[in-house]
Amino acid sequence: MVAREAGPYLDSLRERPVHDGAMDALLDELDGPLPAAGDGAVAAVERLVRVGTAAATHSSGPRFFHFVVGGSTPAAMAGDWTASLLDQAAGLWLTSPLAARAETVVLRWLKELFGLPTAFGGVLTPSATLAHVAGLACARSWWADGYGVDVTSRGLAGLPAMPVFSSGLVHVSTRKALQILGCGRDTLRTFARDDAGRVDLAAMDEALARVGGRAVVVANLGEVNTGDSDPVADLADLAERHGAWLHVDGAFGLFAALSPRTAHLARGVERADSVTADGHKWLNVPYESGFSFVRDAGWLSRAFGAWGAAYLPDEGDDRVNYNMLGPESSRRARALPIWATLRAYGRDGYREMVERHLDVAAHLGALVEAAPDLELLAPVQLCIACFRYRPEGVPEERLDELNARLGEALLRDGRVYAGTSTYRGMTVFRPAPLNWRTTKADVERLVDVLRELGPTITV
Ligand SMILES: *Cc1c(COP(=O)(O)O)cnc(C)c1O
Repeated sequence: MVAREAGPYLDSLRERPVHDGAMDALLDELDGPLPAAGDGAVAAVERLVRVGTAAATHSSGPRFFHFVVGGSTPAAMAGDWTASLLDQAAGLWLTSPLAARAETVVLRWLKELFGLPTAFGGVLTPSATLAHVAGLACARSWWADGYGVDVTSRGLAGLPAMPVFSSGLVHVSTRKALQILGCGRDTLRTFARDDAGRVDLAAMDEALARVGGRAVVVANLGEVNTGDSDPVADLADLAERHGAWLHVDGAFGLFAALSPRTAHLARGVERADSVTADGHKWLNVPYESGFSFVRDAGWLSRAFGAWGAAYLPDEGDDRVNYNMLGPESSRRARALPIWATLRAYGRDGYREMVERHLDVAAHLGALVEAAPDLELLAPVQLCIACFRYRPEGVPEERLDELNARLGEALLRDGRVYAGTSTYRGMTVFRPAPLNWRTTKADVERLVDVLRELGPTITV
């Protein structure tokens, strides 16, 4: 039944609204008491698919531009179905040589795609946040090691706070990972030279000198409001000079490495100690999909190896147990959708898709600049355009409320999805077109709908 309904549903994504609020009434059909005697599989699944295809947020279609949300390529979706079909216990080589081998292969392909050294270790995670947990757990082990403490067995008791330095471009998930790791979300210090958050290298340099280089530097490749990036190579120089750990958040920005038009932004990533990226964003693999790469894989096994046992197979031994290299124990065969999509479209297919999105975002930026009632607030970088609605005659102090209300109206309308965020103290739109289905016509629709709804809002 799911397979039968999939075709018509996927075909409808191109034209249907992203969300139809009227359909939320159907959600009641999911509710009710736990049945004593069940409905049977056919009736239960029929209900789920009927309610789901109507009431879902159709974010895998081409016009979901809120936050940074990817779609799912046909091959990735089929790979994901295969992962459910085979239902592998993908933590141990013993329980699934298939899943372990596929993970090893896709990690190698991804390193190649991003220009990371093949010697890097890695592990697939459910998300970039969990990839931060993996990478920063390694950083924490490295840092505690400097005090002669094995943090995996002893914990952090008795140690000072681990210094973590970044620019104002840092994503909230980095703080969340630090919070999970017991390092404290507020121990992260930002060094910014302007209200856009761009890094103050001199101030960070001084701070690194003060702590004798025993610190973690977080470089951000692709910020969520503007697509802006830290100068990764400069931060790599700083980290190297002071002997600090360099962690790079490239959740979606790492894909800059795929095109010669943007590869300069990713220069220096290959010098990182740990790197985070997402599969469910620009790779267009279904949720949940992330990856962590670590220069010295030994840190992954020290941070996550079971029972404190360092575990790494010998060089050339494929019998790797990925649950000893990452935060999860039992896990699904997350490699299969990644394998399917990389095998299907290859390096060239992905480069073409990334470049199409660069063009779509640039086109959106040009439309905004040409519209008298829209104001572009930052240069378009990667796949994000940051702007606000600014019709003539509305005073500056009313613009935040006007844009917030317009954002709500846009989400209620549902034809195109883009809400607001805060950038340099302003309420702004920052749509991110990175779904494989998205074309220039879809961002034209966004601008049309915004300018249609704008005049209906009064503040
Ligand atoms: C989305 C995002 C994250 C967090 O990713 P999740 O997959 O949602 O955990 C981290 N950093 C940046 C820059 C992001 O865009």
